[in-house]
Amino acid sequence: MTLLDRFQRRITYLRLSVTDRCDLRCTYCMPERQTFLPRAEVLSLEELHRLALGFIARGVTRIRLTGGEPLVRRDMIELVRALGRKLGDGLDELTLTTNGTQLARFADDLAAAGVRRINVSLDTLDRGRFAELARRDELPRVLEGIAAAQAAGLQVKINTVALKGVNDGEIPVLMEWAHGRGMDLTLIEVMPLGEVEADRFDQYLPLSEVRANLEQRYRLTPSGHRTGGPARYLDVAETGGRLGLITPLTGNFCDGCNRVRVTTTGTLHPCLGGTEAVDLRTALRSDDPDTALERALDRAMAIKPERHHFAIGARGQAPALARHMSATGG
Ligand code: SAM
Ligand code: SF4
Repeated sequence: MTLLDRFQRRITYLRLSVTDRCDLRCTYCMPERQTFLPRAEVLSLEELHRLALGFIARGVTRIRLTGGEPLVRRDMIELVRALGRKLGDGLDELTLTTNGTQLARFADDLAAAGVRRINVSLDTLDRGRFAELARRDELPRVLEGIAAAQAAGLQVKINTVALKGVNDGEIPVLMEWAHGRGMDLTLIEVMPLGEVEADRFDQYLPLSEVRANLEQRYRLTPSGHRTGGPARYLDVAETGGRLGLITPLTGNFCDGCNRVRVTTTGTLHPCLGGTEAVDLRTALRSDDPDTALERALDRAMAIKPERHHFAIGARGQAPALARHMSATGG
């Protein structure tokens, strides 16, 4: 039976977090001294595989592996290979979201396992700014990783979080750089998820503003292009490329939600912005994991909320959720 929620939305897309660990510390994502989960809490490779198969059996056709940084998990490629075998046999697409630092090492393996498209997060092309923003001086390694991914035949999309006073002036540069290399660029509004040192109000840059600024210099026209996620695309006449906008704050897109997220401990969150949760790890570790998983997925469909309600209204506001994006899986 397919996964259908109370609002008749069919869930066909799973974002599966394979680790909460990361080799960067992006200031908008996590604090410098982030506490990571003890390894015993984290699902094993076999459990992640079984879980993914359970979702595929219920009509999920696309899986995105994420984290934390998915490529820092040691057995990650084995999982990609195992899931790659389901491509064309229930699974239409296997992708991942990565910060790119490990791509030079893994790009060929990802392509060989059947991955065709990946998202690489990159918020600046300025080395100093990158080192400040990610708290690690890794821009050269990321750029090398992106080049390796393209050389391996992977289609790369760049994701950039728009940050007030940090990279707002650089957005045209990032766009021209990405488009000049055959990559789409998607901008994301910062979301109030988890405590970080900075105030979200100071980081938040509405994409409506960014779009208006870009329209002074570029002709942007709505594109019919969709990738199954929440981004809405614009064609950019001057570059011949596409600009995606993900606007959780200025343009709610929950009506068309087709996805759920599972953390690395096997907790299913039916909404990125909600506190609803279903424990799949207990189901996976029970005597009859397949039946228990089926029941747990039904429970998740019964509690998936209609929409998220987070907002960034004022300085000093507490985060909408205590959970960091790196824990839920971005
Ligand atoms: N480490 C990988 C990466 O950076 O691509 C995958 C996980 S990361 C949590 C996934 C995406 O979430 C990244 O594009 C990142 O920029 C974004 N992200 C993290 N925290 C965010 C926040 N508070 N608001 C908006 N986007 C956020
Ligand atoms: Fe790590 Fe990605 Fe979060 Fe940056 S956004 S700290 S790369 S998980």
